Amino acid sequence: MQEKIKLLKALISEKKNIVITVHRGPDGDAMGSALGLYNVLVQLGHIVTVITPNDYASFLYWLPGNEKVIVFTEDKEKAKQITTDTDLIFLLDFSQIGRLDDYGDIVQNSSAKKVMIDHHQEPDEHISDILFSDVTACSTAQIVFEIIKELGYKNLINKDVAECLYTGIMTDTGSFKYSSTTATTHHIIAKLIDAGAENAKIHDLIYDNSSADRIKLLGFCLNEKLLLYPENNAAIISLSAEELKQFNFKKGDTEGFVNYCLAIEGITFAVFITEKEGIVKLSLRSKGNVNVNTIAKEYFQGGGHRNASGGISQVSVNKTITILETIINNLNN
Ligand code: 5GP
Ligand code: MN
Repeated sequence: MQEKIKLLKALISEKKNIVITVHRGPDGDAMGSALGLYNVLVQLGHIVTVITPNDYASFLYWLPGNEKVIVFTEDKEKAKQITTDTDLIFLLDFSQIGRLDDYGDIVQNSSAKKVMIDHHQEPDEHISDILFSDVTACSTAQIVFEIIKELGYKNLINKDVAECLYTGIMTDTGSFKYSSTTATTHHIIAKLIDAGAENAKIHDLIYDNSSADRIKLLGFCLNEKLLLYPENNAAIISLSAEELKQFNFKKGDTEGFVNYCLAIEGITFAVFITEKEGIVKLSLRSKGNVNVNTIAKEYFQGGGHRNASGGISQVSVNKTITILETIINNLNN
């Protein structure tokens, strides 16, 4: 770690053009980490641009610095030019270049130095010049905090930085409840609150700011769409494109729904399936020993973490459910 910190410190010791990017469909940890780091680097005098592969949930738009973010799918030429001309690229909260979609080629073709900071399984060692990977970390935001501290820039953690990093840690720990949450996480959270993060405000902006349609969609999922396999401790919820349309679906509306399956007594394996823009997307979650990273990798071209992963299916929602039922029947949980 210390050797890598030295290398990174040398890289940012003089004014540079810097790009920060994150995985497609960026979540609270991706955007919180990116904008937290952004708000530190601009204080050091760098010219910094956060570029996301695509758009994200509007409940993240309040994050300080969000107004400057470039969304690749909405501004391809500008994103390409900035990425090609930049000196340094930070790759945050993903471990495989495929998670950048079409933006990935542009990043790979850029001659900029690359620094990856991430907590996903099996990081690709070939993408970056410096790799900070900790698969035990609850969030990328926690690693970003530790790197800022190790670089000697703790004094730059102002209210804006603190609120971004707080959001990253809070969202990736399910509000500090997953087993990845440690005493260190709570110590860091305390420091972020001391630095000005308004914790109650942040919880409200992220979790209690839903449209009525979103809450009705949740009700529909739980009441009409929940498939239970009690003998195998499993549950599936699926939503077709038509059903999403019925509830005026907006990006981010189904975030967190999969966790309701795991709130049911005895359920240790849960899958949430949606059909969006012709793609069948899966969110897999587990408690304990069921390794959803392996399942996502083997069957759904995806991955993530041991207890939280994602992927896509090449077949219809109903056929995907059939595949999952076979997987569920073979679970030894
Ligand atoms: P979610 O179900 O919330 O989309 O994602 C759960 C976790 O799996 C997150 O850490 C996310 O970054 C990761 N993940 C989601 N989709 C994919 C994917 O297609 N490939 C890989 N490698 N990881 C994914
Ligand atoms: Mn994360």
